[in-house]
Amino acid sequence: MTTPVRLRPEIAALPPYRQGKQASPDAFKLSSNENPFEPLPAVVDALRGAVTVNRYPDATASELRAALAAKYGVTTDEVHVGAGSVSLLLQFIQAAAAPGDEVVYAWRSFEAYPGLVTVAGATSVQVPNRADGSHDLVAMAAAVTERTRLVIVCSPNNPTGTTVTTHDFETFMAAVPDDLLVVLDEAYAEFVTDPDAVDGESLTERHPNLVVLRTFSKAYGLAALRVGYAIGASSVLDAARATAIPLSVTEQGQAAALASLEHESELMTRVDRIAMLRDQVRQALVDQGWDVPAAQGNFVWLPTGEQTATAAGVFADHGIIVRPFAPEGIRITIGEPSSVDKLLHAAQQVRQNTS
Ligand code: PMP
Repeated sequence: MTTPVRLRPEIAALPPYRQGKQASPDAFKLSSNENPFEPLPAVVDALRGAVTVNRYPDATASELRAALAAKYGVTTDEVHVGAGSVSLLLQFIQAAAAPGDEVVYAWRSFEAYPGLVTVAGATSVQVPNRADGSHDLVAMAAAVTERTRLVIVCSPNNPTGTTVTTHDFETFMAAVPDDLLVVLDEAYAEFVTDPDAVDGESLTERHPNLVVLRTFSKAYGLAALRVGYAIGASSVLDAARATAIPLSVTEQGQAAALASLEHESELMTRVDRIAMLRDQVRQALVDQGWDVPAAQGNFVWLPTGEQTATAAGVFADHGIIVRPFAPEGIRITIGEPSSVDKLLHAAQQVRQNTS
């Protein structure tokens, strides 16, 4: 595309962010891995109390960081808060990788990674997932070169839903250089039920080159408020803080996140219900004959292959908006329990059309 001004060609060529299609009023929007639950009354109260909009918010989110530090047993300097974990990802990429440097990550994984690496001027090195949709950590370690400045590991992986095991992750950390930054993107950590899955929470003390990313968007249901956080060594977080656009985390976001931490057990009950529904949906899809990878986030992956675009249309006809990743598959969020029958009917019809 030609533009009237000179732009960085690799940026001009980037596709704009695609949001899942807006659902018609009676369709279920299962395309953005959102939480179907309304905010808790305590969160609504916190938002009502956060009405100072003529002043800038607390730039360092000090109260929220203190609450997160207490939750994880780390110091406040070992917590960094950003406007969604996607903005933190960009900060770490910019802090570590300059033009000519490489960023290694699995593919397919979170669709934002390639664009963020390009924005930083660095080069993406994508390592194909294994046939079951999981990261190939051995190949990812082998892909590290002298130019590699960052590796992103996504567990549970968006969009395939698989986790990496603690054992494989530790082997990976032992295989890569001690001074190579590793970001463990755990946006869906709270939905994990597999005891073998890595839990970054306990690992940053042992690995000063590891940063763990989490978010209030998914399990805590605050996607619109844009609050994510990183746990890691303070000197590494300082570098991210240096690249951050100041004052991006709103007072409303900080207040709602704090209220959510205060009512965490209630929120985690909701998370448990979503995880149980996820397991039921996955099992029903497997019973239909689908090869659905182990699902540990709030979504399942349907390998529809070349039929992906058509299949997304069948789901839409059934009132289910999904996220297609042609030509590989479809990602379906676990949302309202009342969406499940329609979802399974649509999957059954796609199955019949393709077999
Ligand atoms: N990481 C992964 C793996 C995700 O799927 C997402 C959201 N889709 C994010 C990070 C970003 O989430 P947020 O910016 O809302 O915190």
